[in-house]
Amino acid sequence: MKAAIFDYVRAENLDQALGVLEEVGSDAKLIAGGQSLVPMMAMRFARPSLLIDINRLDELKQVSEDGETIRFGACTRQRDIEFNAALNITAPLVKKALNWVGHSQTRNRGTIGGSLSFADPSAELPLAAQVMGATMHLQSASQGVRSVNANEFFLGPMYTAIAETECLVAIDFPIWSGAKVGTAFTEVSMRKGDFAIASAACQIQVDAKGLVKRITFGVGGVNGAPMAFPRLAEQLVGKVLTPQLAQEVANEAVKECDPGSDTHNTAQFRKSLAATLLARVLVEALENAMGNQ
Ligand SMILES: Cc1cc2nc3c(=O)[nH]c(=O)nc-3n(C[C@H](O)[C@H](O)[C@H](O)COP(=O)(O)OP(=O)(O)OC[C@H]3O[C@@H](n4cnc5c(N)ncnc54)[C@H](O)[C@@H]3O)c2cc1C
Repeated sequence: MKAAIFDYVRAENLDQALGVLEEVGSDAKLIAGGQSLVPMMAMRFARPSLLIDINRLDELKQVSEDGETIRFGACTRQRDIEFNAALNITAPLVKKALNWVGHSQTRNRGTIGGSLSFADPSAELPLAAQVMGATMHLQSASQGVRSVNANEFFLGPMYTAIAETECLVAIDFPIWSGAKVGTAFTEVSMRKGDFAIASAACQIQVDAKGLVKRITFGVGGVNGAPMAFPRLAEQLVGKVLTPQLAQEVANEAVKECDPGSDTHNTAQFRKSLAATLLARVLVEALENAMGNQ
């Protein structure tokens, strides 16, 4: 199928994009990399009357850090993150998540902000954002900027806290400094590059004795939105994370998940897969941390 007829504006700057968005309202859609929106339009699941193109706005492509936080402009291309070696230290989970996102062709065009805004429940970058407690900065012409934490941003399948007059302009991820920080990300999909049936991510920091100093973890594909488990994570602080404890925690975590069944996978299979993947990333992140000085 082909997309329904639409108008197109290439924004010269953010103010112009926000002004047009406010003027036209829900009939308009921002387009960034187009890797999700264009297929949705071609299948006529989306029929915007106007596309506002923000993907050339350099002001939305800056990556900066202040020692505690790394900020990604929303239109930073996934490929630019993938090839930024400094991010192995400052945003290792984002880097590892990207290894699983689509194909090099889609990552060449797709943006971090587009993936977070699209909010597919199986997408990898939303899971990394949820696990790391990222902060999304949303801007509109009339209301200015407001900031929303990931746990209040992802509201359901393809449903976020972004209002129809708002643009996601930047995303902050906390930087975990110090020694012995480790990360792991894994998933199972039908084919490499497909969206995950279930995915899991973990970031951990341990002390010199190998005891957990801080840890965060979560799963994707098993709920309407990616899930993190801060209460269970807190219970691991000060403990040795053995494989057995990792499996127990993972089993406990997936009790909170409520996946649907589809033609490929039953809900029970997704939950059991998520538990296996979560236990695996807990152990892998620990091993990774022990190897990092
Ligand atoms: C073959 C194929 C395989 C893929 N596989 C995967 C995969 O395995 N994992 C995965 O996560 N993704 C996958 N994707 C999707 C890809 O990662 C997209 O890049 C991403 O989902 C959307 O990013 P985008 O920049 O292309 O956004 P667009 O497609 O331009 O926009 C997506 C939606 O977000 C909105 N939007 C975009 N930017 C903003 C903003 N700054 N503020 C507010 N709203 C905004 C748009 O209005 C639109 O509704 C795949 C895509 C293809 C075509």
